[in-house]
Amino acid sequence: MRVGLGFDLHKIRPTRNGFLLLGGVPIPAPFEVLAHSDGDILLHALSDAIFSALGLPDIGVLFPPGQKSTKGMDSKKILNRALAELKNRKKKLINVSCVVVLEKPRLTNFRESIRGSLAQLLGIKKDGIGLSAKSFEGLFPLANKAIACWVNCLIQ
Ligand code: MG
Repeated sequence: MRVGLGFDLHKIRPTRNGFLLLGGVPIPAPFEVLAHSDGDILLHALSDAIFSALGLPDIGVLFPPGQKSTKGMDSKKILNRALAELKNRKKKLINVSCVVVLEKPRLTNFRESIRGSLAQLLGIKKDGIGLSAKSFEGLFPLANKAIACWVNCLIQ
């Protein structure tokens, strides 16, 4: 058994008609994520957790930001690379445990759809997906300026 930890943080900025992508689920939000890729921070941290569990470099090394090839990239591609690395080593994912930190919107109503999306993307049962939503407690400088995410994974 191996454990992996992934972390990601992105700046956000106010936007009209904006949305956040979390675990492949578009979430209506008063913010948009500043990112070179599609900005799905949950998939970034999740992919990094898997790469880390395998002793591989992080996604910034494997998918360098600032390059044409990664501009606006669908983060599912990054995750699929991580899953391919798992499969190549004949290992499988047991469960993942995620913490997303942001001020708004509250994720309560989206929790089940994000868990369902992750379960489908990862090919594991939904009870193997833990998701906690926290806030920065209104504290400067991160509150309403950033979104952060941690993911642990266990592989076998
Ligand atoms: Mg990222």
